Amino acid sequence: MTGASRGIGVAIAERLAADGRHVVLVARSEDGLRSVAETITQAGGSCDVRPCDLGDDAAVDALIEGVATDHGRLDILVNNAGITRDGLLLRMSDDDYDIVMHLNLRSVFRMCRAAARPMMRSRFGRIVNISSVVGLWGNAGQANYAAAKAGLVGLTKSVGKELGGKGVTANVVAPGFVETDMTAELPADMLAEAVKRLPVRRAGTPAEIAHAVASLTADEASYITGQVLCVDGGWMG
Ligand code: NAP
Repeated sequence: MTGASRGIGVAIAERLAADGRHVVLVARSEDGLRSVAETITQAGGSCDVRPCDLGDDAAVDALIEGVATDHGRLDILVNNAGITRDGLLLRMSDDDYDIVMHLNLRSVFRMCRAAARPMMRSRFGRIVNISSVVGLWGNAGQANYAAAKAGLVGLTKSVGKELGGKGVTANVVAPGFVETDMTAELPADMLAEAVKRLPVRRAGTPAEIAHAVASLTADEASYITGQVLCVDGGWMG
């Protein structure tokens, strides 16, 4: 479970733990992860903490290998960590493009590739990649982010096709507006205006995204693969 130190990732980790999964919490901030782990264990759940910079290729390989070795299996991979470096096209630097593509797409590709082996070995796996409705629609000021999130759709559908015969499913959850540190960076009036136009008239909660992830990672979700589930209050309608 990546990006588990704050925001949507915390809700997903807590939900999977409440459903009886042992959850491996991954992000850079060890303090953030430890505080989430404390909440999970106090609620009777099981988890361990693995600080990792997912932008670091060697660290990603070591992470998946370590989890598969220490736990003997890897059932579920939720690629939720993500960043933004917003700016209009004409002002967007190569660095802003590269860093977003590197973390939001390349690291997810590398995580899926590393996880495929242990999942295929046990003939069971659930991969959920967290994209965004912006990856389906585009968004002014987010060319880099939208490109990476759109890339996740093609990546996930391809993984689903390759691994389907081995009992491994791969799906995308595409949230709309969810109140987290990420959306706190947006101008409040812009957010309020956008939310007013949604059919449900409010932003989503991390727990609502977690519910979608929990559904797609359930043992019973074995016939759902290559899908994009928008959890966006009807935005994409
Ligand atoms: P957030 O509050 O900014 O949290 C991002 C998470 O990613 C944090 O746990 C962060 O932990 C981790 N992360 C960032 N860089 C990392 C790195 N190099 N290595 C490891 N972990 C890293 O974001 P959020 O709003 O919860 O979003 C979660 C996901 O949902 C993202 O993929 C985002 O694109 C997507 N999404 C969000 C919204 C929304 O409205 N919030 C809408 C659509 C899609 P550390 O800083 O501790 O590393």
